[in-house]
Amino acid sequence: MSEPFAQLDAGGRLRHLVTLDGLGRELLEALLARAEAFAAAPARGDALSGLTVANLFGEPSTRTRASFELAALRQGAIVLNLDGALSSRAKGETLLDTAHTLRAMGVDVLVIRDSEPGVQESIARALDGEAAVVSAGEAHLSHPTQGLLDALTIRQCKGAFDRLSVAIVGDVARSRVARSAHRALATLGVPDIRVVAPPAMMPGDADFAGARRFQSADQGIAGADVVMMLRIQHERAGSGGSVDLASYRRDFGLTAARLRHAAPAAVVMHPGPMNRGVEIDSEVADGPQSVIRRQVANGVAVRMAVLAQLAEARRMRAR
Ligand code: ASP
Repeated sequence: MSEPFAQLDAGGRLRHLVTLDGLGRELLEALLARAEAFAAAPARGDALSGLTVANLFGEPSTRTRASFELAALRQGAIVLNLDGALSSRAKGETLLDTAHTLRAMGVDVLVIRDSEPGVQESIARALDGEAAVVSAGEAHLSHPTQGLLDALTIRQCKGAFDRLSVAIVGDVARSRVARSAHRALATLGVPDIRVVAPPAMMPGDADFAGARRFQSADQGIAGADVVMMLRIQHERAGSGGSVDLASYRRDFGLTAARLRHAAPAAVVMHPGPMNRGVEIDSEVADGPQSVIRRQVANGVAVRMAVLAQLAEARRMRAR
C-alpha cells in the first residue's frame, strides 16, 4: 500500500493542487478571498518571482492555459509552455522522466492537463515535493481551479452559498467541470445541488453524493438560482455515446424559453468552449443573465491565488 497522497503541508497550505477532494471549507474560503482581491484589482505582484512554472497540456486548451500563463506572469514567474511535452510518451519517454527532466532544469511548478487519470498525482509523488503540481484538468475526473472559479463567480453574483439551488446540466457523466463544481459547492455549503442529464449522461450512483438527480431539464432547472451548462464531451468515449444534436437541444439545450423555468434572477454559466445552438443558445449565452465572461476573468484571479499559496508554502519549507 502506498502512502496516502498529501496535498497539504503541516501548516494546512497547498503543496500541490490535484483535486478538491479532502480540502476543507476554510481553505477553499481562503483561496476564494484571495482570488476575490485579485479579481477586484489584478495586481502585478512578485509572489512568484524567482520561480519557474511549466504548463504541460496534453489536451487542447485555450482559456485554462492562457489564464495559468497570465496568472504566473502577473506575479513575476518565468513561464514555459510545453504543449507537446507529454506527447514525448510517443517517443517512449515516461511521464515521470519528463517531469524529472523539467525539475532538473529548475522548474518549480508543473501545471498539467492530461486525458489519463492519475498523471498529476503520480508526477507529484515522484517529484517528492521538489516541484509543486497543479492540475489543469484530469481526464473526466477533476478540474480543481475550474471548481474554484465557478464557486467564486457564484459567490460574487449571489452572496452566501447557504440558500442556493444550483443545477448542473448536460453531459455530467463525462464532465470534470461538473465533478469539481459539485465538490467545491458541497464543501462550501450549497444545500441544493442538482444533476440534470439524460440517462446516457447521468453519472453513476456513487458519484455526486447528495445531489438530486433529474432527467427532465425543465424540472431540473425549475427555480434554480444558478444554471451551469456543460459542453458535450464528444471527445470522451463511453457513456453519452453519439448524440443527436437536434434532439439534445430540444430536450436539454438552454434556450430563452427554458431559462424561464429557473428563478427570475438566475445566472447562467458555461465553462467554455460552448457549442452554441446545441447546449446553449447564443441569445442566452450573450444575454443579461449570462456570467460566462465573468467566469473567464475569475479564472485568472483564482489561478493567481492558487499559485501564490503554493509559492508561499514552498518558501516556508525552504526556510
Ligand atoms: N474547458 C473545460 C475543460 O477542459 C470544459 C470543457 O472542455 O468542456 O474541462
